[in-house]
Amino acid sequence: MVTTNAYAAQTKTSPLLPFNFERREVGPTDIQMEILYCGICHSDIHQVRDEWGGSIYPMVPGHEIVGRIIKVGGEVKNFKVGELAGIGCFVDSCRTCPSCLAHEEQYCDNGMVATYNGRDKEGNPTYGGYSTQIVTDEKYTLHVSEKLAIEGVAPLLCAGITTYSPLRHWNIGKGHKVAIVGLGGLGHMGVKFAASFGADVTVLSTSPSKKEDALALGAHHFAVTKDADTLKKLKGTFDFILNTVSAQHDYNDYLNLLTLNGTMVVVGVPPQPSLVGAFNLIGKRRSLAGSLIGGIKQTQEMLDYCAEHNIVSEVEVIKANYINEAYERTIKSDVRYRFVIDIASMK
Ligand code: NAP
Ligand code: ZN
Ligand code: ZN
Repeated sequence: MVTTNAYAAQTKTSPLLPFNFERREVGPTDIQMEILYCGICHSDIHQVRDEWGGSIYPMVPGHEIVGRIIKVGGEVKNFKVGELAGIGCFVDSCRTCPSCLAHEEQYCDNGMVATYNGRDKEGNPTYGGYSTQIVTDEKYTLHVSEKLAIEGVAPLLCAGITTYSPLRHWNIGKGHKVAIVGLGGLGHMGVKFAASFGADVTVLSTSPSKKEDALALGAHHFAVTKDADTLKKLKGTFDFILNTVSAQHDYNDYLNLLTLNGTMVVVGVPPQPSLVGAFNLIGKRRSLAGSLIGGIKQTQEMLDYCAEHNIVSEVEVIKANYINEAYERTIKSDVRYRFVIDIASMK
């Protein structure tokens, strides 16, 4: 067993505090990684506070994990000791259902094993990346380039793939007018990818102070949605909207901004449901869709794309004892644009 230092929440109302637990022994197809950086995703906050229901405590959050491999099992083929590697939102799946066979393990018919706040195949709770090390099967481990600043790579494992995957699935590129709603961890990666794929990108934000950043990240336009005039002016403008908003809001406001045959893909997961008016869909044959992270194969494709195009997340690196403040600032939309924990501060 491998003793691991971590930060955990003991209940849905308690702060994250230092915690110790043991990782499993390294099995034949496992790698063991010393974690270097782990991003703070808004999903961590939803789950720590049990906003989606069913949370398991103690909870060690974290699914934007980058580190260095310190041990490999005897049958490991694709990883060597000393290499950088990444782990995202899931660490296992059934491996046999149609989704798994189609490299879409995130949609596993039998339920993927979440990196934390899940249960592994033996029924043990899984613990995530706010911790000094992790043991995972190589099949659910990603290769990370030495070319990029790894603190900026960590958020790619969730925020990166969650925005890359729908943009690819809906073939977004040149000639498309795209809106990214919410300029946070996911949103800023959505801007970078959509711009890199050649789309005309607009950021729709509640924070006027983010305009300069939005343009520097690659957006071509910026609009403040609190301004009622904005929604009127932009009616029928966009071919595609990527909605990353984490809090309760009205989907209809954004559906009306879609053009004929336009699609809004929801990736943000507000705890409460949203009512959708049928007229806002039928009037222009619009679609409302959703998307969940991305499979291992596409996550590797995204990491390779980022290494080739020099794309990383904009990060604020923090020490572990700042996690609770980082949560409060994220909730206030005061993050530019991802908090990333320096795991050395947990040793
Ligand atoms: P984040 O960094 O907190 O960003 C969310 C952004 O939404 C904020 O920065 C803010 O941007 C905007 N926003 C916040 N409250 C709002 C409100 N009331 N009305 C309108 N806009 C508001 O969060 P994140 O880490 O990017 O995650 C975003 C959401 O995606 C979360 O719900 C998370 O659980 C979910 N998520 C889903 C997946 C998936 O696979 N589908 C994966 C990861 C995360 P502005 O300041 O620009 O308005
Ligand atoms: Zn996430
Ligand atoms: Zn499966």
